[in-house]
Amino acid sequence: MASSTDVPGRRGRAVVIGASIAGLLAARALSETYAGVTVIDRDTLPDHPAVRKGVPQGRFAHALLAAGADVLEELFPGLRAEMIASGAFTCDIQGDYRWYLDGYPLRQAHAGLAVIGLTRPLLEHLIRARVAGLPDVTIVSPAEVTSLETAAGRVTGVRVRAGQAEEPLPADLVVDAAGRDSRALVWRRELGYPAIPAAEIRANAVYLTRHYRREPHFLDGTEGATFVPFPAQPRGALVLPQENDRFARRPTASGPPSCWCAASSSRAVSRRARSAAVSPPPAAPAARALRKLTSRG
Ligand SMILES: Cc1cc2nc3c(=O)[nH]c(=O)nc-3n(C[C@H](O)[C@H](O)[C@H](O)COP(=O)(O)OP(=O)(O)OC[C@H]3O[C@@H](n4cnc5c(N)ncnc54)[C@H](O)[C@@H]3O)c2cc1C
Repeated sequence: MASSTDVPGRRGRAVVIGASIAGLLAARALSETYAGVTVIDRDTLPDHPAVRKGVPQGRFAHALLAAGADVLEELFPGLRAEMIASGAFTCDIQGDYRWYLDGYPLRQAHAGLAVIGLTRPLLEHLIRARVAGLPDVTIVSPAEVTSLETAAGRVTGVRVRAGQAEEPLPADLVVDAAGRDSRALVWRRELGYPAIPAAEIRANAVYLTRHYRREPHFLDGTEGATFVPFPAQPRGALVLPQENDRFARRPTASGPPSCWCAASSSRAVSRRARSAAVSPPPAAPAARALRKLTSRG
């Protein structure tokens, strides 16, 4: 029987650290050139769409822009239809969706670019199911990559801790897709490489997200809206359609911490988020439109 290792040009093993979006897509790409791909994640990966510890941003409003959806469709034919079948929402980014720039509405016109509104956990769940179904790709969880294995100045694999056991896993290629928890810079230093010069710029931005049941009259029946912050109004908001007739509303604030909403109770967060998003109203059209939604929140 022919095995995948017989496919011309495919040989060796690749290990991917992290089974989130980047890790799963890396595994899909590597499956074309490596005979075996192992993806390792330290979380217990759920078998349904769910927020998990390693991806805390999963609770926040997410949308997939047209170019990202095209790339995913190329890698996983039929994925767009699967997203829609799972309840994701799609609409034209400028024809059906509203944009407020500098507080004023952008003229609505068909752009031919379809945005897909769905939660981050649903997107990851659908991609993970596709990757798990690839021959010669194995997803291992919960297991943590604790360090790189090296010999003669080359990376030869990783060390993996699962439960009490820690073992080396040899690899011809290691891809670090561990997101902001990546230890790549520390591991590099431990291998004797000089530190990479880094510049840090504080974005001074804060997000909150609250989920609503979507009712047809919200936003005058349009599908969603973005209120882009600008110097006179550093507080903006997104109202994104998500699967199962939900809206995710994400007020954002940028600038000094005095602009941020620092409350912790959900009621207070909601109240402050609402006021962050609508006051002071610098430009009536945007504030009016957002108030239409938030007054029902
Ligand atoms: C508030 C907010 C809103 C956003 N909105 C959007 C949006 O609307 N649209 C959009 O496209 N993007 C959006 N993003 C960005 C998007 O969420 C991230 O770019 C994306 O999740 C990054 O994926 P990743 O795979 O690189 O890393 P992550 O999602 O951070 O995943 C890293 C993975 O590595 C695992 N891991 C870490 N260390 C180890 C280890 N040592 N061993 C094993 N596993 C390990 C973790 O468990 C995790 O699964 C948003 C981000 C934020 C914060």
